[in-house]
Amino acid sequence: MRPLLGAVALPVTLSAAIAAAILLDARGVPSSSLMLPLFLVCVLLAALLERVIPHRTAWNRPRGDVWTDAAYVPTSWAVGGLAQPLASVLAVWLGTAAAGLLGPGPWPAHWPILAQLPLAWALVELVDYWAHRALHQVPLLWRLHAVHHSAQRLYWLNTTRSHPLEMLGRGVGNLIPLALLGAPELLIALSGITNLVVGLFQHANVDLRLGPLNHVFSALPVHRWHHSRERAEADSNYGNSFIFWDHVFGTFLLPRDHEVDELGIEGLDAYPRGYLAQLVAPLHWNEILARSAGAGCDPVRAASRSTTSPEVSP
Ligand SMILES: [Zn+2]
Ligand SMILES: [Zn+2]
Repeated sequence: MRPLLGAVALPVTLSAAIAAAILLDARGVPSSSLMLPLFLVCVLLAALLERVIPHRTAWNRPRGDVWTDAAYVPTSWAVGGLAQPLASVLAVWLGTAAAGLLGPGPWPAHWPILAQLPLAWALVELVDYWAHRALHQVPLLWRLHAVHHSAQRLYWLNTTRSHPLEMLGRGVGNLIPLALLGAPELLIALSGITNLVVGLFQHANVDLRLGPLNHVFSALPVHRWHHSRERAEADSNYGNSFIFWDHVFGTFLLPRDHEVDELGIEGLDAYPRGYLAQLVAPLHWNEILARSAGAGCDPVRAASRSTTSPEVSP
């Protein structure tokens, strides 16, 4: 039962969510209205599966992080609500300018929606891959992204633990290419639904048994390496919902000979644990580094991420 649940949980939930959005759209119900109920259903499902088939039982025990993670949930919804119209306005503005130069958007909107979807996934993931990689490798951006990597465990509630400025930038950046190319609204909604569902299974402490799909989805089996405290391991698996661009650009990591050890940020032990303190942490970066150094960490290693390519799994 356990292997079967671990094998079907993500593919079945994602397929059901996409099917529901398409059916609702056909009945004139905006697919965006599905997002909140879908989030609640997926959260309940993930929290339940964590009890039934946990990946690591120790990660089900709170570490003083629940209130901090809970505070990021309304933040993410507020930012998400802002990103959508902002991206639309920018896309209309940029699209008008581009249409003057290049003609109408080249998106194949006449294709069946399920044929357009893989194309949308590939494009959105490509943009986000490089955004995420930059967040690791540009020291100023790492100050923002450190919030996400400060988690000491992975569980259903820390999917949305990200700095609001990062959320806004990636939210708008992910939506603009599709809107700019003239992709239909339903496709943009399906892209958001994919991020929501896979994002939850990316962080939920569920023993997913995806087999070959570990080379497709950026879910917990590969994403947990991205949260490793070891810097060389964390600078890998940048994919947001899918992992194929990591294969293309040589950053896929899925070791078979050992398990990820501690989570968190190497050399940044003094990183604040509270929500408000984390929001302003980028402004107090040098103080955090100094306090971490006092605690025995190496501040140079903590200040930025390495550009070392990780070991590529065969
Ligand atoms: Zn990251
Ligand atoms: Zn993560």
